Amino acid sequence: QIREGIHPAEICDHPADHIRFTPPDGKSVFFTPYLRGNGIRRALKIGRQAIIEEIKIAGLSGRGGAFFPTWKKWDACRSFTSDPKVIICNADEGEPGTFKDRVLLNKQAGSVIEGMIIAAFAVGATYGMIYLRGEYQWLLNHLEDELVAFREAGLLGKNIAGTDGFDFDIRIELGAGAYVCGEETALLESMEGRRGEPRTKWFYPVERGYLQLPTVVNNVETFAAACRILEMGSGEYCKRGIPSSPGTKIISVAGDCQKPGIYEIEYGTSVGELLDMSMAIDPLFIQVSGPSGETLTTTDRDRIFIPRSINPEREIRCGGSLMVFSKERDILQIIMNFNAFFKHESCGVCTPCRAGNFIIQRKLEKLRSGLADHHDLHELKSWTHIMRKSSRCGLGKTAGNPVLTALEKFGEYFEGTYGAYHNDLIHPFDYTRA
Ligand code: NAD
Repeated sequence: QIREGIHPAEICDHPADHIRFTPPDGKSVFFTPYLRGNGIRRALKIGRQAIIEEIKIAGLSGRGGAFFPTWKKWDACRSFTSDPKVIICNADEGEPGTFKDRVLLNKQAGSVIEGMIIAAFAVGATYGMIYLRGEYQWLLNHLEDELVAFREAGLLGKNIAGTDGFDFDIRIELGAGAYVCGEETALLESMEGRRGEPRTKWFYPVERGYLQLPTVVNNVETFAAACRILEMGSGEYCKRGIPSSPGTKIISVAGDCQKPGIYEIEYGTSVGELLDMSMAIDPLFIQVSGPSGETLTTTDRDRIFIPRSINPEREIRCGGSLMVFSKERDILQIIMNFNAFFKHESCGVCTPCRAGNFIIQRKLEKLRSGLADHHDLHELKSWTHIMRKSSRCGLGKTAGNPVLTALEKFGEYFEGTYGAYHNDLIHPFDYTRA
């Protein structure tokens, strides 16, 4: 069953879907005019090894948020001999505040499909699938039309682009509204017709993925970037960004700002620059990469976006969203909302995530009612650590992030507003009062 969502027309017309900013001087990677087939033709010309080399030189890494080097994933899949191989585009964009993939699929679907075809050629895959978020069902016809256009142009199907024996085609699978299916192994389970629960990770999908076949699972933006890199060449691509982190990143900006929308920024851009571009209003609490990401304050303005952050004081990695909350917002309510989301979306298989999110909710409610004490605070923190260390998948591992960072960064706010948790008159074990 597909969860009730926003009406398609509302999404299409929403100001947030506007592409607000791309690097100037023709440096945009994603939103420059797109000509179907250019990337594929160059890829076929240079050959498999050179494609992977190009992706490696460009430093492309997984844009779903984990930033695993794309060339390593493709190369690993290529090295397995089982046949056939599969390419999956993870379009199950469910992280709150993130809508970059939606805009790419709406405005540049061709580059995503082309990136999948290039990956298929590089690893030797025959089947391709797009796992489309259930709430994005309104994009289905548009994507089907795009696939038909590729087939008619001889870029999907048998003997692609006049080759002798490169056969590959793509179909679309629709999700059914579960956030956890964005996790790649839950996505595979869902695609195989089972309940979308993360697998125990004995194998990476590159070795045993869809139906236990070697499978490349990449995010929408990763495929689009791969297409553009092959089209323009890694040398040209590397003129964007900074030498240690070339390229650009798409970030969806929403919340308390005058210009919400899609921003394609060069790596090396700072948090402050993005806040200024989007005309953030009195920012207080800035959530990067959605609730599972990191909470920032204005003291983080100088941190720069890069894919693989080594120095967290100076850098930050961003999966694809920036949510701005102004000084008018209630911080505790924000983290209570994030927690409610994770509690609802937990698949419930592993105890740390199932029980942890529930316990965090109870503790936050206790904090709100003014009945919490410092033991509750301590337990809140320790639950986030337990969940991070022992949950089965990314959902549980990251669900405690907003709670932990909010308590760390807004200690004074909690002390001032919810000072009751310092009240030693409340016995720590007197749960009858909660
Ligand atoms: P992960 O680091 O385990 O894996 C990342 C990718 O690299 C996966 O595709 C995995 O199969 C592959 N990989 C890792 N090591 C490999 C190896 N040795 N050989 C071959 N392939 C290998 O991360 P994950 O559990 O897939 O995802 C967690 C990340 O997702 C977090 O960093 C989080 O920021 C992000 N996230 C994103 C969203 C979103 O909506 N985009 C939501 C929640 C979390």
